[in-house]
Amino acid sequence: MARRRQLYEGKAKILFEGPEPGTLVQYFKDDATALNGEKKGIITGKGVLNNRISEYLMLRLAEIGVPTHFVRRLNMREQLIREVEIIPIEVVVRNVAAGSISKRLGIAEGTRLPRSIIEYYYKNDALGDPMVAEEHITAFGWAAPPDMDDMVALTLRINDFLTGLFLGVGITLVDFKIEFGRLWENEDMRIVLADEISPDNCRLWDSKTNEKMDKDRFRRDMGRVEEAYQEVAKRLGILPEAGMRDMKGPETIQ
Ligand code: UDP
Repeated sequence: MARRRQLYEGKAKILFEGPEPGTLVQYFKDDATALNGEKKGIITGKGVLNNRISEYLMLRLAEIGVPTHFVRRLNMREQLIREVEIIPIEVVVRNVAAGSISKRLGIAEGTRLPRSIIEYYYKNDALGDPMVAEEHITAFGWAAPPDMDDMVALTLRINDFLTGLFLGVGITLVDFKIEFGRLWENEDMRIVLADEISPDNCRLWDSKTNEKMDKDRFRRDMGRVEEAYQEVAKRLGILPEAGMRDMKGPETIQ
């Protein structure tokens, strides 16, 4: 069977040409990076779990009317997505202080924030993804003011919905990063949720013990990283039937 043409390889995913125009195949790797790529490793089975977790969350978000790039999961490590023009901004939402906001502003990790805070980072590896303000985004044309309005409105809904969804399975959604893209349908453009939502880009803490169930276990060498991702999938009720190890590799789609 003919192998699909690879279009882009990122740190955790590979994008291939899709089976029809306007679609792509998103392949989830086990590779993990942190500290802007300085720390590298493999989290066995991560790609399989993130494929499932992201599928589940995108489908649940679609049910409440959040437009996403997700079409369907193809196999253990691949999903079919709509091709979008990625807006080069990482949108971070914080409900509880952790990570960079704790360091930057001296707020103890675990402090609940007075309200949810949205931050923007310019996607640029060479610059180390610097934090930017809405002013920079619109002045430099990375997104137009109406795009920003859509992104903020969607981000707040996504945060409310996911906070409740995770709380229901005993997990506190501390913070997360999302990305948006422009989806063109003839002359019309819509802003849709793109990329992935998984323990790679969320901070998820057990609501009773505050135990970390996300990529911080890798970033901070805490061990039991695979188990933490697996526990998130288990609580969401979506552990892959075939178990964790994707020994036979991805199946080629028809
Ligand atoms: N995050 C991400 N990709 C990045 C930077 C951050 O997915 O390049 C996520 C991270 O997992 C966390 C949230 O965004 O859930 C906030 O991250 P923070 O700014 O605290 O940075 P970090 O401490 O991860 O460097």
